[in-house]
Amino acid sequence: MLTSARARTTEVEPGDAADRLRLPGAVALDVREGDEYEQGALKDAVHIPRGYLELQVGGRIPEHSTPVVVYCASGVRSALAADTLRQLGYINLVNMAGGFNRWKDEGLPWEIPATLTKDQHHRYHRHLLLPEVDVAGQVRLLRSKVLLLGAGGLGSPVALYLAAAGVGTLGIVDMDVVDESNLQRQVLHNVDRLGERKVDSAKKTLTSLNPDVNVVTYDVRLGADNILEIFAGYDVVVDGTDNFPTRYLANDASLKLGIPVVHGSIFRFEGQASVYLPYEGPCYRCQVPEPPPPELAPSCAEAGVLGVLPGIIGSIQAVEAIKILLGVGEPLVGRLLAYDALEGTFRTFRLNRDLHCPACSVPADQLVIAEYDELCMPHPLQAPAA
Ligand SMILES: [Zn+2]
Repeated sequence: MLTSARARTTEVEPGDAADRLRLPGAVALDVREGDEYEQGALKDAVHIPRGYLELQVGGRIPEHSTPVVVYCASGVRSALAADTLRQLGYINLVNMAGGFNRWKDEGLPWEIPATLTKDQHHRYHRHLLLPEVDVAGQVRLLRSKVLLLGAGGLGSPVALYLAAAGVGTLGIVDMDVVDESNLQRQVLHNVDRLGERKVDSAKKTLTSLNPDVNVVTYDVRLGADNILEIFAGYDVVVDGTDNFPTRYLANDASLKLGIPVVHGSIFRFEGQASVYLPYEGPCYRCQVPEPPPPELAPSCAEAGVLGVLPGIIGSIQAVEAIKILLGVGEPLVGRLLAYDALEGTFRTFRLNRDLHCPACSVPADQLVIAEYDELCMPHPLQAPAA
């Protein structure tokens, strides 16, 4: 059986395998058992133990034309695995002769793969069952940094779900204190926290939910003077603010630093969400070139909002943030998802990039970060004097 499996699969030496792995999109597939893999593997290898191959490979390597180098410890198990993959329709695969042992003996590069602790395996087990997440994805989430603008209605569900999902660092910007009227929708807080700084209340809730998460608090007003410093180093910004000057400011800073923004907004019984991927999709300013006059854009404090609504829109923002971090699915780039609670409908609108957008048509290095006035016009070219 082994002989015939070998005859049906191309076998290459480790040096040739290394060349092959430099092809665009090429994947090293490690079919050893978990304890072997944890002691060392090829860099960025996809790990599927031989016994799970048929179950998981479709999710991990969806394209049958992907160049795949299959390996085990010595090249025997991987010959059988490669034969199985061929039967599953993979057309561009080779088996690595001599396996990981020969690879190591030849001095080729390898690494100790990042893994989860036993407790983390247990906590994130339902994620690990998803081939799109798995150990590698969970490790990626644990190493990710997401910045939340606001610990209010939208920020609450976003923070709770991202913390529960194991996003390793959550930054939270908010300069408010917890008020009784917040509790109708801001589920991060509770009656024991009335009068407390929102960032401190948020940190208590999130840390008790998941001690894996490092909560970094910014009890400040986000302004042109501090935004670049605060944003720097985050992988994704989730915008839960409720005013146009801050949204525009966050938009410009994210363009300058190349950080995707997950936008959400709510009003009475309606909400919307979108993702702004710098210079690849439209930005917030392409979508809303000018803010509506203040009398047509009342805030939640003035117009009211259904308490459950931020739970729905914030949860969508949390999903979008995780999709970006994991690189799975189709983020809401160039699309606006609108929810009408009274109608019970979701609608998706296409958003196009504005070639004359005052923010994203300007190269990042020329973009000036400055305060917007109440009407956010015109796009400032230099910071106002204090
Ligand atoms: Zn734009």
